[in-house]
Amino acid sequence: MITEYAVMTEDHIDEDAIRRAGEILKKGGLVAFPTETVYGLGGDALNPESSKKIYAAKGRPSDNPLIVHICRLEDTEKIAREIPDVYYKLAEAFWPGPMTMILNKSDLVPNETTGGLGTVAIRFPSNKIAHALIEAEGGFIAAPSANRSGRPSPTVAQYCREDLDGRVEMIIDGGQVGIGVESTIVDLTEGRPTILRPGYITMEMLERVVGDVGIDKTIIDGTTAARPKAPGMKYRHYAPKGDLTIVEGNPEEVIAYINQKTAEAKAQGHRTGIICTDETRNRYSADSVKSAGTRSDEASIAHELFLILREFDDENIDIMYSEGFDESGIGMAVMNRLIKAAGHQIVTVRDGKVTKSAMPLRRDIDPKWNEA
Ligand code: AMP
Ligand code: MG
Repeated sequence: MITEYAVMTEDHIDEDAIRRAGEILKKGGLVAFPTETVYGLGGDALNPESSKKIYAAKGRPSDNPLIVHICRLEDTEKIAREIPDVYYKLAEAFWPGPMTMILNKSDLVPNETTGGLGTVAIRFPSNKIAHALIEAEGGFIAAPSANRSGRPSPTVAQYCREDLDGRVEMIIDGGQVGIGVESTIVDLTEGRPTILRPGYITMEMLERVVGDVGIDKTIIDGTTAARPKAPGMKYRHYAPKGDLTIVEGNPEEVIAYINQKTAEAKAQGHRTGIICTDETRNRYSADSVKSAGTRSDEASIAHELFLILREFDDENIDIMYSEGFDESGIGMAVMNRLIKAAGHQIVTVRDGKVTKSAMPLRRDIDPKWNEA
């Protein structure tokens, strides 16, 4: 298949290309497109054949459900049943935007789209290109992130091309996305709203609207045997090709440890990479040292993280170290993705002691980072 490319911005939408893309989707084809979170790989959510094609193009396990993207709140009633009031409250507060809600599904949504679940994930994106495309398609686009399964989610079209060229009918290039990590997923099917995947919309923001909010145990407790309720969270994810380790603890010791390990790897002939912040960038030496942003603005780190992991692949970096980041606010989403990218390899260095752990999230960042 020859993939067609269309370039546009949110301010200058190419209406002809959007119309063509809408036709492709209606006929059961696939289109990759920008959203405010990451690029999506879209197909008609109500067509089981389209959903099968999405799984095939991504190489994604078919028990990992897709998110249905809408552009009119009232369309919810077509694809969901038993819609609670909190759905509308959260929609009012955060839609269009980077939040996904889980409801019980209607018969209109094929099992292929929901990975066999009786529930459906729904999102109303704010990106204007995404919005125009959903409208052109007729209202319901199933779209996971537009990467091959297991790889970091694309935040620029170049990496959609790398993963999907020749596998989809069209890729819409809308530049680098604004947020850089996937949407927050909130389950509304079991009473208390519960976060299944942390994202840009933080727990604190949700609590301000609906009061008490839970968080799926598997996100913060690495020792639990429970299965994550968002099936996708159980897979190895976001992974660069090389070996990534997160190092956290006392800042000075972290810097010394990363520099020492990097020097050892270099001596053994590896190509080395370090993920740090503006505050510590000039303290490191490696083949590639990348600042993800500043600790005073964790959203800046979310924006760059996936891009850096992809760039390391382009640069053939095979041994990588990353500083750990604060887990409050959007930091929870950043660390959730980083920990998965690192395959749970985490090292803590404090008071001369080095400990290895595989904890998903710990919530005990050293306060000294704020002074570093
Ligand atoms: P992606 O589209 O790549 O961002 O992944 C979609 C995420 O949404 C995966 O982690 C899925 O497991 C999750 N998801 C989609 N639908 C559901 C659902 N009905 N219940 C729980 N999680 C879901
Ligand atoms: Mg994904």
